[in-house]
Amino acid sequence: MSSQHVKRVDLIFEKIECRDVLKKIVDMEPDAICQELLESDLKGRGGAGFPTGLKWCFTASEKDPVKYIVCNADEGEPGTFKDREILDLVPGKVFCGMAIAGKAIGAKMGYVYLRGEYKFLIPKLNEELKKFHQTMDEFNQNFRIQIRLGSGAYICGEESALFESIEGKRGEPRNKPPYPTKSGLFGKPTVINNVETLVHSVMIMKYGASHFKELGTKDSRGSKVFSISGDTPKAGIYELELGMTVDEFVNDFGDGDTKAVQVGGASGFCVPRKKFEETIIGFEGVPTGGSMKLFNSTRSMYNVLHNYLDFFTEESCGQCTPCRVGCQQLLKGVEAVKRGEKNSKYLDELVKLAKTMKRASKCGLGQSVGNAFGSIVENFKEEIIY
Ligand code: SF4
Repeated sequence: MSSQHVKRVDLIFEKIECRDVLKKIVDMEPDAICQELLESDLKGRGGAGFPTGLKWCFTASEKDPVKYIVCNADEGEPGTFKDREILDLVPGKVFCGMAIAGKAIGAKMGYVYLRGEYKFLIPKLNEELKKFHQTMDEFNQNFRIQIRLGSGAYICGEESALFESIEGKRGEPRNKPPYPTKSGLFGKPTVINNVETLVHSVMIMKYGASHFKELGTKDSRGSKVFSISGDTPKAGIYELELGMTVDEFVNDFGDGDTKAVQVGGASGFCVPRKKFEETIIGFEGVPTGGSMKLFNSTRSMYNVLHNYLDFFTEESCGQCTPCRVGCQQLLKGVEAVKRGEKNSKYLDELVKLAKTMKRASKCGLGQSVGNAFGSIVENFKEEIIY
């Protein structure tokens, strides 16, 4: 199959004059901004894919006079490194996106929650922030942004754990509802968006919703920045149109011997070769926050699975039993099968446990462990048993 559908796009990294977009926004009604975002069908680029316009509209309709915008720059998913590149190359566009969201919902304050390992970006971000605040002053806009540094906990990428961390508490997920649109940071209505989502909002306000909708599919509009790694001769960051099949992706980025692609990092799905043609990369198929890892025949999928389980066991915050105990049991379970102490039927029991974790865990970490687990066990059972 040809790779004609793997289309390179340059929207996120396109150098633009953010000042012009901000000038346009200043004169717009908040409702018109929300409507443009709704019209664009933009879905959050963190992986979950909640419609961004809807999130903004819900928060805008809250009566509380104090609201917040939070930029989730806690990029902790293994294999994802695209937000770092966006923050490094076009930081002004991230701040601009926060100002647009701020105008849309009526917030005067925004926070960037930056992954601890990205501390080296702070001098550059501060410099850009200074220019941004000067522009805001010039346009008589009372909107300010502060940067907060995370400390390396993966769970702080979960929105409510992230709020707890900014508030100076231990970063653990909260019970939901209430959702952030009603009660987020400091208990106030909050829009929290991923770095890439905010930059998309800038480009939608610049070029219009219809331009954005020309790319992608009905369920997955627009483009997406992918961080591509593993067994590929083209590792790196690429902005591609959504809606390609895994087969088309592998034809372009594989090394000719790809046997599996892990879409969406540790919490995503492992797509085996036999499903490449039928699987679409997008919300109608396998959604991804950006991480794409290719594995060729030299890789042991047992080792891949073991690494993921090790990671989740380490990063589980321990608040709820299904996740805290479940992660450990899955890890010990596959080790026991590999050593021959348990037979292959035991893997079916572990798959059931992973499904229970999906239903019973409090947050996305415990709920998503089963994605990689189920898809690797289902498709690469023999590599785990032998
Ligand atoms: S699912 Fe895991 S990470 Fe999430 S709250 Fe429960 S123990 Fe913590």
